[in-house]
Amino acid sequence: MPGNSPASSKIGLLGGTFDPIHLAHLRLAEEVREALGLAEVWFIPAGVPPHKRAEPHLPFEERLRLVELALQDHPAFRALDIEGRRPGPSYTVDTLLELRSRYPERRFYFILGWDAFLEIESWHEYRRLPELAHLVVVSRGDFSSAEARKQAQRLFPNHRVHFLRVTRLDISSTEIRRRRRAGLSIRYLVPEAVFRRIEEAGLYL
Ligand code: ATP
Ligand code: MG
Repeated sequence: MPGNSPASSKIGLLGGTFDPIHLAHLRLAEEVREALGLAEVWFIPAGVPPHKRAEPHLPFEERLRLVELALQDHPAFRALDIEGRRPGPSYTVDTLLELRSRYPERRFYFILGWDAFLEIESWHEYRRLPELAHLVVVSRGDFSSAEARKQAQRLFPNHRVHFLRVTRLDISSTEIRRRRRAGLSIRYLVPEAVFRRIEEAGLYL
């Protein structure tokens, strides 16, 4: 159960399909945690992600299990099942509303990668997001801070969007799934426990 840290603490939220979770997710969360002095980072696997053209490759429960395996050794990282319990598409705005009403004293920082920020206009009620949580955009791929500032100014002129350069790790879940299908190793792209579970259960073949 999240919420062991003091009531008013700063909490990072990292949403994703996590299909599967990989080391770049963990590393970016760790760097944001340190840079912003977050007490915890809560990882939120999407139930039915509204933006993917296709359904996730694994059911929610299996993706959640992999996230839990990945986080088990970090005392400040937790997995939330909030989006799996809500029927229908997982809209970030609804998740933030629910978390704010459950934890009214927390200060939430919603973390997303540059690729996701470039598509944020397609998110349900995206204009409300910076009112519900501070937005923290981390670099990914060809991140340009000039372009990032322009995009933030255009979309959210009245809010501060945080940008953070994180260690560049060109790892994606798409590439991990592709490697599995091609019979290639995914060792060291995902945490050891996640690697073992994927191998043992024959996932993504
Ligand atoms: P897929 O290829 O299936 O889209 P993904 O690797 O992009 O998977 P997601 O679950 O879609 O993983 O990502 C969750 C969040 O983490 C998004 O905000 C995304 O931008 C960010 N993210 C994922 N991988 C990286 C990475 N290598 N560097 C920086 N941010 C990342
Ligand atoms: Mg993605």
